[in-house]
Amino acid sequence: MTRDLPTGLADWRQAPRVRALNDQPLGTIGDHVLCWLQQALRGRDNPVIDAAVRLGNALRLPVLVYHGIAEDYPYASDRLHHFILGAGRDLAADCRARGLTCVHHVDRAGHRERGLVHRLGADAAAIVLEDQPAFVARRQSERVAARAAVAVFAVNAACLVPPAVIGDDVRGRSGFLRRHEPERAGWMAGEDVVPTVAPYDGPLPFTPDRIEELDTDALIAGLSIDHSLPASVMHPAGRVAAQDRLHRLVADVLPGYATARNDATRPEGASGLSPYLHFGVLGPREVMAAVTAAAAGARHKAKFADELLGWREWFHHQARMLDAPARYDRVPAWARDTLADHADDPRPEAETLTAMLRGETRDESWNACQCQFLIDGWMHNNLRMYWGKRIIAMTPDPDTAWATACYLNDRLSLDGRDPSTYGNIAAMFAGSPADNERAVYGRVARRGDGSTRHRDGGAAWLATAATRAIPAVSVPATLPRNAYIGTHTGPGRKATARLLEE
Ligand SMILES: Cc1cc2nc3c(=O)[nH]c(=O)nc-3n(C[C@H](O)[C@H](O)[C@H](O)COP(=O)(O)OP(=O)(O)OC[C@H]3O[C@@H](n4cnc5c(N)ncnc54)[C@H](O)[C@@H]3O)c2cc1C
Repeated sequence: MTRDLPTGLADWRQAPRVRALNDQPLGTIGDHVLCWLQQALRGRDNPVIDAAVRLGNALRLPVLVYHGIAEDYPYASDRLHHFILGAGRDLAADCRARGLTCVHHVDRAGHRERGLVHRLGADAAAIVLEDQPAFVARRQSERVAARAAVAVFAVNAACLVPPAVIGDDVRGRSGFLRRHEPERAGWMAGEDVVPTVAPYDGPLPFTPDRIEELDTDALIAGLSIDHSLPASVMHPAGRVAAQDRLHRLVADVLPGYATARNDATRPEGASGLSPYLHFGVLGPREVMAAVTAAAAGARHKAKFADELLGWREWFHHQARMLDAPARYDRVPAWARDTLADHADDPRPEAETLTAMLRGETRDESWNACQCQFLIDGWMHNNLRMYWGKRIIAMTPDPDTAWATACYLNDRLSLDGRDPSTYGNIAAMFAGSPADNERAVYGRVARRGDGSTRHRDGGAAWLATAATRAIPAVSVPATLPRNAYIGTHTGPGRKATARLLEE
């Protein structure tokens, strides 16, 4: 990669974040560096933008930041569009404040653009995009890189410690942590790279949407997407809402985090940051800087760091190593085998997809979990573990259980479609093998609702939580098993379930 880069970029401090996605040289006639954002929707503290600006400065070319949203990506809904467009609006404002041109496209009837990234990239000297290990971002990046006539670089913006630093040969989370923990402090420093070239004002092959002036509600109402899933009131879109949550974390949540975080009856004991992290409205460095500077006790900070860095970045690492992070075969073989051995067991707790989707099953606690997904677009961690395990008993076979869990999580949760989605669901389908063989689950451990129900006021809380008014969510005729699985090619990809075994 470095042989094509101008002198001065070869020892780029952020180089471990950067991966060449093709063998093309830098374009000689391009008049800008294209920075294509898919999920890291922030204008500050964004390694993708910084990489593009660094490259642009070295080439004496301006950077053009582009973000687009289609109607036809899996699970497109009012909920996701609201969140994404809100993030996009603030992205545009922050880019402008940094001296960068940022253009948007909202694809819709009468305003369609095909192959826009390719067309924007055709006049670029290079394309800088995101290194995302899951969902459509990864596949789209690989497609752009395969077609581009100029160099395409993928930059990791999701993790504090770039996955390349950890290497491809770690086994299990403890091995991962041994490498990850000593690296963290070294990645906490860093400032936004200042462009030394005037903002791009050249021609564009399309008419951008002026996202700050759009009537988002009216625009979304006219789109061909899932209108049965409304925006989340609990998680408003945009940078201001994200930073409010971060301030709340520092002031109110962190001082009691290590104990309160497990109490689902007090959802305010958790940060609620996962939607903003998933869409990159906040990055892990900004969050960890606030946590490090907070006045909370060391044990609370350490617990938070273990969740945000120790778990979240472990699941990113796993996804990067897998051909298809969302596919059932990532679950360790022993767990798939024992579940398959019991696939024909009677399933007295089976539920219909309609009952599950609407949170109207015979299991009040499960319904309480599902109501959070339906209404808030988020679920408390402690409830997610119960929710995920129970799906195995509620569905006719393990394959359907996996597809159902992924479908519900991906469609309803703002933070779904993420490496943490599939990594955590896989953990629910495996974990440590139980000593006893049980019906339906085999040696996969079951999980009860006692950690919530047996708390003071827990039963009453669950009863209320299970009867919240839910949106009239549409129900598909059949479970969309392949709405998104995705297989990928590229260096270091392995289809192995051993990653989960420790
Ligand atoms: C079955 C199941 C499905 C899940 N699906 C998702 C998902 O789709 N997207 C998602 O981001 N997380 C998922 N999680 C992990 C976790 O439940 C959520 O990240 C967490 O509940 C988000 O709430 P919070 O931001 O208040 O978390 P906090 O407790 O405040 O934690 C802070 C941050 O640490 C990270 N984190 C916390 N717990 C985990 C974890 N177990 N794994 C990875 N990262 C973690 C998140 O980024 C979170 O925002 C799932 C867990 C389970 C058991």
